[in-house]
Amino acid sequence: MSLIRPPRTAPTSRRALATGDSPSLPAAQSAAPLLKIGLIADVHYADADTRGTRYYRESLGKMREAAETLNREKVDLAVELGDLIDTPSPPDARAEAGFLGAIAAEFRKIGREQHYVLGNHCVSALTKEQFLAACGQKKSYYSFDRNGIHLVILDACFRADGTSYAAGNFKWTDSDIPRAERDWLEADLKATPHPTLVFVHQRLDLPPGHDYAVATAPAVRAVLEKSGKVLAVFQGHSHKNQYREINGIPYCVLAAMVEGGGRENSGYSSLSVFADGSLELTGFRRHAGHPFLQRERSS
Ligand SMILES: [Zn+2]
Ligand SMILES: [Zn+2]
Repeated sequence: MSLIRPPRTAPTSRRALATGDSPSLPAAQSAAPLLKIGLIADVHYADADTRGTRYYRESLGKMREAAETLNREKVDLAVELGDLIDTPSPPDARAEAGFLGAIAAEFRKIGREQHYVLGNHCVSALTKEQFLAACGQKKSYYSFDRNGIHLVILDACFRADGTSYAAGNFKWTDSDIPRAERDWLEADLKATPHPTLVFVHQRLDLPPGHDYAVATAPAVRAVLEKSGKVLAVFQGHSHKNQYREINGIPYCVLAAMVEGGGRENSGYSSLSVFADGSLELTGFRRHAGHPFLQRERSS
């Protein structure tokens, strides 16, 4: 097992939970988690030949293995952090719809419910509406509660000029969470009494101007910080495990499933959320080697 937070007895990084307006959590009664979430990032599935380090076809088998393992771990639900499919050259909406159907059929086997974060590659040929309809998901950003935990799915697939990504009308380095979504987020966090996890494809922990960054990341982080309710943010997009803490909020980037041949180069995690607000991330395959993890899984 691997920790991404200090031990659950350490109060320092959860200052928000000790204040008067802290999110309400059921009393910690046992070590059993309130919620277990399967996490997968940057699957990039396509029926396409390997290019460089990206083994597009292998993602289907890697996803099957992830489903078996994460179901054995008894995750309640699964979140994929974007770039579920990849783009043939030239982009071909019909082909991508086929890739999406195949990989979503495997992803759907994980836990009792599945949630899709939009990534830039998801909408290279498809529109958001087409992608989401195929996944059976109504919205690109939304929130929901499970077992006393509030989960927020964000959509950073907008250009900095506010235009929503659709069928490749964007550069991948031009990502933003526009004002309307930030306002929704602020109101959503204000309304929830629960501790919160945030999921987004592009990076909120990098300075504006960085290729992987959300253009208004500092403004989004300010909303998260002001709420005092965010336990952690999980991201994809840059394909390597990374971890940093900014103003008390941990930002985790999970390695891409597509990178490298063979199951040993896959990556997926089980995130346990405990009643005292602490988190435990158990990494499998290359997620196990995550540099922020304090202890590696022994099996
Ligand atoms: Zn990616
Ligand atoms: Zn991406």
